[in-house]
Amino acid sequence: MATSKSPSPAVVEKVTHYLHNGFHDRSHGVEEIPPALGDARWTPELILSTWYAAETGLPPNDLEHQVGHSGGGFDKLDFKFLPENDWLSNDDSISTSMILNRRDPTRRKLKLSIPVYGGGMSYGSVSEEVMVSRARAASEFGTLTCTGEGGYPDGLLPYKDNVITQIATGLFGVREETIKNSPMVEFKYAQGAKPGLGGHLLGDKSTTAVANMRESVPWVSLFSPFPFHSVYSVEDHKKHLDWAMIINPDALISVKVSTPTDVDMVAVGSYYAGAHVIHLDGSYGGTGAAPEIAKKNIAMPIELAVPKVHKHLVSEGIRDEVTLIASGGIRTAHDIAKAIALGADGCVLGTSELVSMGCTRCSNCERGRGCPFGLTTTDPELKEWIHPDWGSQRIVNFYSSVQWQLREILRKLGLDNVSDLRGRVDLLRYLPRGFEV
Ligand code: SF4
Repeated sequence: MATSKSPSPAVVEKVTHYLHNGFHDRSHGVEEIPPALGDARWTPELILSTWYAAETGLPPNDLEHQVGHSGGGFDKLDFKFLPENDWLSNDDSISTSMILNRRDPTRRKLKLSIPVYGGGMSYGSVSEEVMVSRARAASEFGTLTCTGEGGYPDGLLPYKDNVITQIATGLFGVREETIKNSPMVEFKYAQGAKPGLGGHLLGDKSTTAVANMRESVPWVSLFSPFPFHSVYSVEDHKKHLDWAMIINPDALISVKVSTPTDVDMVAVGSYYAGAHVIHLDGSYGGTGAAPEIAKKNIAMPIELAVPKVHKHLVSEGIRDEVTLIASGGIRTAHDIAKAIALGADGCVLGTSELVSMGCTRCSNCERGRGCPFGLTTTDPELKEWIHPDWGSQRIVNFYSSVQWQLREILRKLGLDNVSDLRGRVDLLRYLPRGFEV
């Protein structure tokens, strides 16, 4: 487990109390927790347990805090663990690593310590301090983070071996040198929180520094187009990917798409266009800046898209040549393991990292001075709340906890490698109504 800062005894006592007694423990004074804390997917308990993990590096010790109460998605699935006598021994030899390049011996392999990396959050949607916190944590933990579509601030350069550069439809801040710097280039064709829409950044977050990075006009709202207007076929798609592969002959290519009903065909097309990683982004994720109308009404839930794509890649005989990544509402080690059992190789997390740094899910992310914790802001005063020393340690602690919990899940399933969990839907059970955890 990575090193972690010791929390103060007062913090441990308070958080432990809530973990044991829950949000609804009136005896302790429910008013002590802000009424805006959490939502159906991110329950107050789940936020508190994430803060506990981010503070201590330890796993939360109560199953109730590992799922939400959304009544659907991953909250309706549970594992069929073996009888206790058949569990593997409790040690660190259970492998949680993930290889991203499975098809191209001329390029780097990119082996991550956990089957997880950080999703794109653009400069402008979050501050440079948040980006640096995420990049430093990725570097310390042996995983990756992604720039999102707003360019590549210089503060990320010390961590460049762990930073994915994203090319999205607006091409904001896309430069040859940042493609050359990156171990992986991510083409964002669509995102689950805004399927059918491009990214958007409202004017009061587009400061002079953000606008300079994006080569736009300060304080003017920015809307990326949907889709790439240069790509209307698999052949166009291949030309796109070839362009980045020629600029950086060692980089891997990831293709991020949302989950339309024909997402299985999209995945096969991306494979033949040359992608090393196919990243499916479902609709449960996104910050409070994602419009609810798009988030809740378009595209397929991620827990349906993953097995559909996995099975189709198997039937095409190409499953072991690509890495399939799931994102969009993956919150915990249990969600990660469930996504892998459904057919993914690994997951991308975004909101969990923000919650690790104090997010309460208050949904004010799109406003310039909306985020009370200095996360999704470019305001010069508010952004000072996040110091990269502190932010990166919170994320490293969270990932330490995730890795520990993943090993626990694998141990109880009798598996000594996370790759053996892929596609094992037989190890999952559906929780009927009234039987959710
Ligand atoms: S405004 Fe800040 S605290 Fe609120 S949901 Fe967005 S990131 Fe989280």
